[in-house]
Amino acid sequence: MGVKKVALACTVCGSRNYYVAENKNRTERLELNKFCKHCGQYAQHKETR
Ligand SMILES: [Zn+2]
Repeated sequence: MGVKKVALACTVCGSRNYYVAENKNRTERLELNKFCKHCGQYAQHKETR
């Protein structure tokens, strides 16, 4: 059984910095405030496919 993963992309520069296992039962898109090494600061990251 494979775990489906989604990328979290920085909303500032668009870099895909994080990968997380997809949560089957969620209804909203994942949005997390994480550190972006490309921007050199914390930025909002959104789920991509
Ligand atoms: Zn960035």
